[in-house]
Amino acid sequence: MKKSEQGKTLIAAKAAGLVAWAAVMVFAGVAFRQHRAWKEPVVLGPGVTAVRSLHEWFAPLKGTENDCNVYVLDSGLPGSTILVLGGTHPEEPATNLAAELLVENAKPTSGKLLVAIHTNRSASTVTRPGEAYPQFYSIKTAWGQKKYRMGDRSANPLDSWPDPETYVHYPSGQMLAYMDIRNINRTWPGRPNGLLCERTSYGFMQMIRKEKVDLVIDYHEAELEYPVIGTIVAHQKAQEVAAMVSMDLSASQFRIGMEVSPRTLHGLTHREIGDFSDATALLFESPEPFLDRVRGATNEALLLTGVDEFVQRAGKAGLLYWPIDEKGWPIEVRVGRHIATTSKVFEVWNLLYPEKPIAVDGLPGYGDLAAKGVGAYFADPASVAKDRVAFE
Ligand SMILES: [Zn+2]
Repeated sequence: MKKSEQGKTLIAAKAAGLVAWAAVMVFAGVAFRQHRAWKEPVVLGPGVTAVRSLHEWFAPLKGTENDCNVYVLDSGLPGSTILVLGGTHPEEPATNLAAELLVENAKPTSGKLLVAIHTNRSASTVTRPGEAYPQFYSIKTAWGQKKYRMGDRSANPLDSWPDPETYVHYPSGQMLAYMDIRNINRTWPGRPNGLLCERTSYGFMQMIRKEKVDLVIDYHEAELEYPVIGTIVAHQKAQEVAAMVSMDLSASQFRIGMEVSPRTLHGLTHREIGDFSDATALLFESPEPFLDRVRGATNEALLLTGVDEFVQRAGKAGLLYWPIDEKGWPIEVRVGRHIATTSKVFEVWNLLYPEKPIAVDGLPGYGDLAAKGVGAYFADPASVAKDRVAFE
């Protein structure tokens, strides 16, 4: 081959490579954009009296990805104010689904509920492509499939960048992993001039103080290889509530543990909200085999059924902190645990603080939810007036 011909072949090969690269970029870019822009409809249930935005308590959040909806369910009668946080970690879908179930079904008859479905909304606009997470998942309902964004543990780097070399938590000064500056369960109580998650936590703290919140409940899920699982983590101000709920539920419905929040581990809801406000705080963990390192195919089926033969094998080898069998940990059981634990917390709360009650109608029991599925509790957005639908 002549030299000039060789040159032409090389240029042609490079051009073909460039076209292929551009095609992959366009394909991926469109997929990322569709995911980030997907809006999840939420039907406002009979208890919802207002839908507010987080920026109403901290104006600089306006226009950011983390200016999330705050659903107000006010009985109009005196009692306690309870804030429920879903989607602190949007790779834990039982958390936003349980919060949404509250919004669509709960009807307080004393006291007030505040609910955030996506506490770290930015983290719900990105998945973990390096770990082959699906972009979406769907919940079956009587009126069709309801489609949701699968998220990540930390905020989208498009919204919070760059990460520091070392993340120094404010105000404790504790040094944490650099990416935890985008993990909202490491940025409480936050600060007004920090990065996105620090500002978001600060906004929620402003709300907690202004609205005189008495109790914050933060929903989570965990891998079975992780020791903090199937449990309630309690700030010391709430340990009596958590202990009674754990004993009652474990004797009557399902096993759930209880532990007290470590005093020197900073940035977490169950530590900082209790320390920096008059509210107390509880965190619930349900089991999510999808997050286990030893899992097999990382797909929507695993996300929703929690069935995985490799995680089961790890269980047989004694490597897990939580049991699993061929039934796995289906989403309706995981959401059911959160909803039943929430109902039990209200019951115990009223025993301990009868002068500040919280009473809520409309929530399904654990058995009903596990039998009928989560979708049975989501209404068709097309069946209600437009002003009774919000978007996440
Ligand atoms: Zn979590």
